[in-house]
Amino acid sequence: MRNVVLLGSTGSIGTSTLKVARDLPGEIRLAALAAGRRVDRLAEQALAVRPEAVCIYDPSQADALRRRLPKEIEVLSGMEGLIRLAEWPSADIVLIAIVGTAGLRPALAAIRAGKDIAVASKEILVMAGEIVTEEARRHGVNILAVDSEHSAIFQCLEGRDPASVRRLWLTASGGPFRNTPKEEFPSITVERALRHPSWSMGRKITIDSATLFNKGLEMIEARWLFNVGMDRIRVVVHPQSVIHSMVEFVDGAFLAQLSTPDMCLPIQYALTYPRRVPNSRVTTDLARIGSLTFEEPDTERFPALELARWAGTAGGGLPAVLNAANEAAVDAFCRGALSFPGITEIVRAVMEAYRPAPHADLDQILAADAWAREEAARRIRAAAETAR
Ligand code: NAD
Ligand code: MG
Repeated sequence: MRNVVLLGSTGSIGTSTLKVARDLPGEIRLAALAAGRRVDRLAEQALAVRPEAVCIYDPSQADALRRRLPKEIEVLSGMEGLIRLAEWPSADIVLIAIVGTAGLRPALAAIRAGKDIAVASKEILVMAGEIVTEEARRHGVNILAVDSEHSAIFQCLEGRDPASVRRLWLTASGGPFRNTPKEEFPSITVERALRHPSWSMGRKITIDSATLFNKGLEMIEARWLFNVGMDRIRVVVHPQSVIHSMVEFVDGAFLAQLSTPDMCLPIQYALTYPRRVPNSRVTTDLARIGSLTFEEPDTERFPALELARWAGTAGGGLPAVLNAANEAAVDAFCRGALSFPGITEIVRAVMEAYRPAPHADLDQILAADAWAREEAARRIRAAAETAR
């Protein structure tokens, strides 16, 4: 039995995790749940799951939550509450599925408390992958990938000598604008960008899939999870999203992991690792899928891939800058304050303006993150004024 703390329980990954836990009552027990603001949804989940504790990030909602739950369920709030859950005594593993970077401090707290972590929040590995992986090594805990691509690579690499690996191949669906001409990009609306062809996910990652920043973030995530240089990480567009990613070995062989796209599978594997546990939730009919196709990504229409390669290769604070500027730009796009191509333009401009610090310790990474958010906001305001 694994005791799981789930941070981000009301989101897309969180909801899928609850399904997996319901499928496998003898394997997975949810010890605690946390969410950002959706107190109704969190209360409902807590009444169904009966965890030991819950945390709502917004402290003004803690009392409302307390009133709706039996006394045995402890109610916490804020960053303090998230960190207490990350260190929860009965927990074996902490699944971080909070959108953005709010999961970074809880992730480090969990590692220092000797817990394994399962990471859906790729942003924290992009921002501070070196620090997180180094801490995990020092404390002898596992980092399990929940992102489908990284789960696939992890499964293909199991038990292999790192020297036998030539390259890692991340597959990308190509997003909703795979065939859209560049001239149309300025008129892309939020609504269109939110219509992902193969995955149903939270808002931020869906926009990231449309710009291909999601794949860029995943390249940097892979760099840290698997300790390979950026020059050995490749991307291939695979619109069916059936091959979740691949490893190319030095003899020319490829290993791939395939299934119908459904996050329940990588979530389950992370939570039951190293075992494979029977579950019929995800089934795959290859004959019905028919064909699997591949294309070169178009870095001219989707410069996010090259920006991410630059950030991942330079390292230091630059990945944090890319990530933070992207978060600010996606937020502005969703508010109608920035055009779709504006997202990439803002990220590039902020990266170009960044003056790197010599040592990227945690404080400097946090400072780079804060600087990039402000710099992005300033440039977004300026762009909006020019447009007016
Ligand atoms: P989502 O927007 O659907 O859900 C986000 C969750 O985070 C919600 O439960 C929300 O309440 C919670 N949250 C937000 N701010 C919080 C805070 N400060 N404290 C506590 N909780 C907070 O997002 P999602 O699609 O589930 O994605 C979550 C993460 O997983 C992202 O980092 C994303 O990149 C990654 N991911 C998602 C998918 C997917 O299929 N959805 C796939 C791979 C990776
Ligand atoms: Mg992914």
